Amino acid sequence: MRQIAIYGKGGIGKSTTTQNLTAGLAQMGKQIMVVGCDPKADSTRLLLGGLAQKSVLDTLREEGDEVDLDLILKPGFGNIRCVESGGPEPGVGCAGRGIITSINMLEGLGAYTDDLDYVFYDVLGDVVCGGFAMPMREGKAQEIYIVASGEMMALYAANNIAKGVLKYANSSGIRLGGIICNSRNVDKEIDLLKAFAEELGSQLIYFVPRDNMVQRAEIHKQTVIEFDPDQPQAQQYRNLAKAIDENKMFVIPKPMAQERLEEILMEFGLADI
Ligand code: ADP
Ligand code: MG
Repeated sequence: MRQIAIYGKGGIGKSTTTQNLTAGLAQMGKQIMVVGCDPKADSTRLLLGGLAQKSVLDTLREEGDEVDLDLILKPGFGNIRCVESGGPEPGVGCAGRGIITSINMLEGLGAYTDDLDYVFYDVLGDVVCGGFAMPMREGKAQEIYIVASGEMMALYAANNIAKGVLKYANSSGIRLGGIICNSRNVDKEIDLLKAFAEELGSQLIYFVPRDNMVQRAEIHKQTVIEFDPDQPQAQQYRNLAKAIDENKMFVIPKPMAQERLEEILMEFGLADI
């Protein structure tokens, strides 16, 4: 069983990418569980056809401690098992706690069955605080992928996440599997992302183009793969699934100083203007 955490700046496309990618893996015959680790609890909406999945924290609040697995784990597209950790009431408590509670609960209830090929954690990555770092810190996910784009803030967040991976690499054995570029149509984006990933000692594992089909499918509460499998964008996600399935490059990243990050951005972005 490979346990994979997808990190990245808020709004960068983690949940969209994770759901399309896992839909692609499911079509390859893989058994998958997706654990949403964002207090927004929207990590599995496209897999569940918009079904309001009650989060683990909400279920605990309403049902008390006696929770059955089928209350928090719902099968979605391709039989992908979907869980949302959820978060505390806004403004109250640590948002990262939901992740710790959920993973402990899933373990206690026997959700990590031997037939699973993959468990994916879709984790908010702006803040690598204790809670959000939990899948890394405790080595729950051994592989980390970072979703980024050519925009400075996305790369800034990605570099910070790489610092988190480095911090826990020795104690928990986690490794960076690569950077996924979710394109924002920035100039020379692919070259920039390749240079950024190489500087980290890692790789650009896949470049996902920006495509309005993603929104069209999203309105129908579906992944592109389910909504229209013949679309080029569906093929992009299947390619990403294959790249991850066949990935052999797992490294301890070398995060860069802010000055170096800015240098790289200058080289690929501002230099020609
Ligand atoms: P995150 O989970 O990182 O917060 P989301 O996956 O919710 O981000 O994505 C934010 C928005 O970006 C979504 O509304 C989605 O439709 C859009 N989006 C993501 N990836 C793409 C893409 N490759 N092309 C077009 N739109 C995209
Ligand atoms: Mg999300």
